[in-house]
Amino acid sequence: MKNTLLILGDQLTLENTALDAGEIGRDRVLLIEARDSGPAHKIKRVFHLAALKAFAEELRGHGWEVEHHRIGDTPAFREALRGHLQKNLPSALIAMEPNNWSQLKALEEVTAETGIPLRLTPTCQFVSPRAEFLKSAQGKKRLLMESHYRRMRQELGVLMLSDGEPEGGAWNFDSENRKTVRDWKKDGAPNPPRPLTSQRPQDPIVLEAIAEVNRWFPNDPGRAEDFWLPHTREGALKLLEEFVGKRLVLFGDYQDLMLLDSPTMFHSIIAAPLNLGLLLPMECIDAAIRAYRDGRAPIAAVEGFVRQIIGWREFVNGVYWLKMPDYLASNSLEATRPLPDFFYSGDTSMNCLRSVIGEVRDTAYNHHIQRLMILGNFLLLAGIDPQQSHDWFLEMYIDAHEWVMAANVLGMALHADGGFMATKPYAASAAYISKMSNYCTGCTYDPAKKTGPGACPFNLLYWDFYDRHADRFASNPRTSMMVNSWKKRPEPEREKIRNEARRFLDGLVSK
Ligand SMILES: Cc1cc2nc3c(=O)[nH]c(=O)nc-3n(C[C@H](O)[C@H](O)[C@H](O)COP(=O)(O)OP(=O)(O)OC[C@H]3O[C@@H](n4cnc5c(N)ncnc54)[C@H](O)[C@@H]3O)c2cc1C
Ligand code: SF4
Repeated sequence: MKNTLLILGDQLTLENTALDAGEIGRDRVLLIEARDSGPAHKIKRVFHLAALKAFAEELRGHGWEVEHHRIGDTPAFREALRGHLQKNLPSALIAMEPNNWSQLKALEEVTAETGIPLRLTPTCQFVSPRAEFLKSAQGKKRLLMESHYRRMRQELGVLMLSDGEPEGGAWNFDSENRKTVRDWKKDGAPNPPRPLTSQRPQDPIVLEAIAEVNRWFPNDPGRAEDFWLPHTREGALKLLEEFVGKRLVLFGDYQDLMLLDSPTMFHSIIAAPLNLGLLLPMECIDAAIRAYRDGRAPIAAVEGFVRQIIGWREFVNGVYWLKMPDYLASNSLEATRPLPDFFYSGDTSMNCLRSVIGEVRDTAYNHHIQRLMILGNFLLLAGIDPQQSHDWFLEMYIDAHEWVMAANVLGMALHADGGFMATKPYAASAAYISKMSNYCTGCTYDPAKKTGPGACPFNLLYWDFYDRHADRFASNPRTSMMVNSWKKRPEPEREKIRNEARRFLDGLVSK
């Protein structure tokens, strides 16, 4: 009897373990294009659709029988899956462990309804098995990325010496990876890469996906024609090679730097293909380590990159599976203000936010520090509703998936999980932004001004945040200094900051 091997839209790799469990000539692969997800940036939609279509062709080329539900036939994922199972009555539905909770529930529920057995195979898209992470986290009140990262380095023998010590003499080189705008100028201002949307898509599969996105999702944000990423494994490998050959060498140095009109800086832009299965984590790490061994990239850059993948990426995935489904409702700081409209329009006089939001609107991409220290920082300080914030990130980014978004937005950026995965909130005033970017030059606000006309809103909001949450953060050794410093200020000065912050927040416009 035939099995159905279901390949979900973010599992597009020939290493997919569901394929290993099947047999060419006997089993059938099922791929579903559905239209029932929430709103999403059109560039992200084109990427998902084009990558799935190209993968269907690739599977056929390898001799698989493929049933490919097209976006025009299929309003909803569950409906398409149920229809397939009822019509074909396969012996089993075999799928690799889904990356997202709602996908897992859909498979469990539809197979239960139809009486078809469900068999899940282990994921190949993460290095550490899901069950192992859950076991290592059992009963812990708080998880530290650093402990997870060191364990992974040891278990995998990545950048480790034979005596068990880390290569380069340290576990991390963060202090070398924080060059500022001033350093960048001193270094002769190395040129960051050109803008992302400069190439027009030509591939027929991409053109078909663009037409479908414009037909089915006309009201979603962004322009489908601005699609800029490779949608095949071959293209993704080239993207990785280009990063390792050209940008990795400066990745560490300028990892935290933000420059006007330079959306990617020296970042890899591989998250989207990696999250869809077009790349696998170990091959990305191996490519970077080869560059280090060949003397093409310094240890600080390579370790920094390895940390992002086997450290942060694996860690946020583990936290997601540990904490779901309740995690999505986290709101420990009780933030309730609605998301301001300018998160879509970019219409704000704050230069940093206008620039970063403009880039994501045009490209569906921002690099990590823009996401964390501009957008996340603003949402945290302004007390914006975490669920609305989470949904906005999920909608706007080309690499966004619930498994990666939840811990990054609710845990890391918004501290909504009560500090489960970040010991202190990533809160910063304008001093940080003006040191790490050139956004403040030409802004209508003055980053050095704390109150009064022209004072940067980040300065007002920063202290107002510590005022509102003084009790909670006074007892945290990593934030008590800020609370004490706030409390030492004369009351009239504190009242002025509170009033000006209130006026700014009251002026935010939301639908
Ligand atoms: C508020 C917020 C939202 C985010 N949303 C997403 C998202 O939707 N999808 C996503 O993949 N990442 C997300 N991240 C993590 C990180 O910002 C992106 O992975 C990164 O910016 C993608 O760009 P890049 O490929 O150029 O990454 P690089 O800076 O070149 O890093 C290399 C790779 O490391 C991995 N990585 C680095 N940091 C993280 C992290 N914190 N969590 C998970 N993986 C990480 C990614 O796979 C990335 O491609 C978010 C972070 C924050 C603070
Ligand atoms: S002055 Fe303030 S609002 Fe303007 S760019 Fe700098 S940090 Fe942003």
